[in-house]
Amino acid sequence: MKLCRFEQAGSVRIGKVVGNGVVDLSTVPGVGASMRDLLARLPRLRPALEAAAAPEFALDAVRLLAPIDDPQKYLAIGMNYRAHAEEAAAAGIPTPKSQLWFNKQVSCISGPYDPIELPKVSDQLDYEAELAFVIGARCRRVNAAEARRVIGGYLVANDVTVRDWQARSPTFTLGKSFDTHGPVGPWITTDDEIPDPLRLEIRLSVNGEQRQRSSTGDMIYDIYAQVAYLSTVMTLEPGDLIATGTPAGVGIASNRFLRDGDLVRVEIDSLGAIENRVRAEP
Ligand code: MG
Repeated sequence: MKLCRFEQAGSVRIGKVVGNGVVDLSTVPGVGASMRDLLARLPRLRPALEAAAAPEFALDAVRLLAPIDDPQKYLAIGMNYRAHAEEAAAAGIPTPKSQLWFNKQVSCISGPYDPIELPKVSDQLDYEAELAFVIGARCRRVNAAEARRVIGGYLVANDVTVRDWQARSPTFTLGKSFDTHGPVGPWITTDDEIPDPLRLEIRLSVNGEQRQRSSTGDMIYDIYAQVAYLSTVMTLEPGDLIATGTPAGVGIASNRFLRDGDLVRVEIDSLGAIENRVRAEP
């Protein structure tokens, strides 16, 4: 299933995308307005969600929102594609010896077609195409071999970064957390629909010019190793959002940062695309 959140006639609802339409799931008993709650109850609700067929809206007649807008955590791993680690090393940033995790504050999360604000305080706005996933089951101390069981689904993310602010603190927190710098979507594709999440092509373009292209198979630490590592430390909850690293080709590597009006598109095989226009902060 492709689970989405959408706005239609002023109300926010949960739906599923089928072809070029959106089936409203808010009429299914037990489905509220929270994707986090839905993910927690997905195993029980799944038959009713799969059976739901109406009412339906045209996909282009609704506004898609961030499919998960209020996770407890938005964690992201840095330097996790081999070629990206090499381009960073060329710029003097050493390759980490273990998984490098940081937080994006959940307040930065925005919709799949929402604008990205170019802040007045920086001219180093950058993009990072990433596969993201959501946790589907509460868990702790999950080993990599069992990790797939706790993954609820996958989505496309842009880990938008303000480079000079990222460098101001070893935690990256501020440079990763400007409002609007967490576009995700366009929907959550549930795990059962993706035969192998480690074999997906990921692409990013700016104004139609391709800047990043890789496979999720080029990760240094794959998503299962990520779940194992994170759950060594903390309980993961349904809806927790995890961004899994970006391939080579980020703007800072070629000193080409995003400008007002740029259109940034991130696409992943089988998961769809998000497209966000850069807009100068008013
Ligand atoms: Mg990143």
